[in-house]
Amino acid sequence: MGDRYRQRVRTLLALPDQGVDAHLIVSLENRFYLSGFSGSAGWLLVGGGERFLLTDSRYAEQAGTEVPDYDVVVSPSLAGGVVKIIAEQGWKRVAIDSPHVSVQGLEQLRQAGPLVQWVPQAGRVETLRRVKDEDEVACIRGAAKIADRALQQVMEMIRPGTSEKALGIALEHAMRECGAEALSFPTIVASGPRGSLPHAQPSARIMEGGDLVTIDFGSVFRGYHSDETVTVPVSAARANRQQRHIYDIVRQAQKAGLDMVKPGVKASAVDAAAREVIAREGFGDFFGHGTGHGVGLEVHEDPFIGPRYQPDFELEPGMVVTVEPGIYRPGSMGVRLEDTVVVTSAGYQRLTRWDKRWPT
Ligand code: ZN
Ligand code: ZN
Repeated sequence: MGDRYRQRVRTLLALPDQGVDAHLIVSLENRFYLSGFSGSAGWLLVGGGERFLLTDSRYAEQAGTEVPDYDVVVSPSLAGGVVKIIAEQGWKRVAIDSPHVSVQGLEQLRQAGPLVQWVPQAGRVETLRRVKDEDEVACIRGAAKIADRALQQVMEMIRPGTSEKALGIALEHAMRECGAEALSFPTIVASGPRGSLPHAQPSARIMEGGDLVTIDFGSVFRGYHSDETVTVPVSAARANRQQRHIYDIVRQAQKAGLDMVKPGVKASAVDAAAREVIAREGFGDFFGHGTGHGVGLEVHEDPFIGPRYQPDFELEPGMVVTVEPGIYRPGSMGVRLEDTVVVTSAGYQRLTRWDKRWPT
C-alpha cells in the first residue's frame, strides 16, 4: 500500500518543476492520491526524501494509522506549521497547488513565510491522476456496478404516476444500500419536456406514459466515482417517432465517439466523431456541451473531451473517460446517453454496463 504512495510522490518530484525545493499540496483529492489520507483537513509537503502531512488535532489519530509513510505534524495553523518545516529543512522555493489555494490562503502563507518564494504551479498532480492504475480502475468499476445494480432495483418505478423526485430519492437510497459510500453528484432526473435541461434536478413533475426520462447518476466507491446516463421511455409502446428518431441519433453518436476511443487519439477527435453524427442529422444546435470528461477521484477531471478544451490530450491506456452526447429540444424533450470507459491498449472497455439499446 505504502509503496504506491511513495512511488506517486517520486513521480511528482521527477517532473520538471522550475527548480523548486518542495511541493505543497492542499486539495483533498490530490492529498488522497499522494498519501491515502481521507480526512477533510490537511496539507502535504513533499520535497527531497521528506514527506509531511500537516493536519489538525481532530485528525491526528486517523492520520497516524492511514498514512504511515508520512511524518504527521499536528498544527493548529497549517500555514504556520508548513513554514516552520520549510525553515527547518532549509528550503527556499516551494511550489503551491495554485488552483486550490484561495487568495486569502496565499496571503496567509506569505505572511507566515515572508522569506519563502511561493511558486504557483497548476495541475501537476492532476497530470499524474489522468492515467489510472489497475486498482483505481477496479474502484471505478466497483462504483459503476453499485450504481447499475441500484438502477435495476428502481426500474419498476419508471411508470406513469411516479414523480421525478420519488424516483431520484429511491435511486440514491438504492445506491447507498448497494454499497455506495457517497453519491458522485446529486442525481439528475428529467422527464418529458424537462429532458431538455441537461442538469435538471428531480422535480415534483409526475411522469406520463409518452415521456422519455433521462437519469444521470453515479456512486463513489473507495474514493472513486462512476458516471452514467440513461434515457428510457416511460412506456416504450407510447413513444412517438420523433422520440425514437432522436434516441437513435444519440445512440449512433455515442457509438461513433466510443469507436474513436483508443490510445493516441486526441480527445477532440472523440468529440468531433460524436458531434458529427448529431450535426449530420440536423441537430447540431441542440448539443451544446462537451462529449465527455475524465472520471476518478473527482467526477469531472482531466482529460476533458470537447471541441474547445485546452490543452487537447492524446488518450493513453489507463485513462478513464465518459462519452455522453445528447440532444436537447427546449420545451419538448431530451436524450443523453453516457458511459464511463477505460482506455485499453486495444481500444476501450466499458465500466458502466447498463444496456443502452432501446427497450423492445
Ligand atoms: Zn453524468
Ligand atoms: Zn459525465
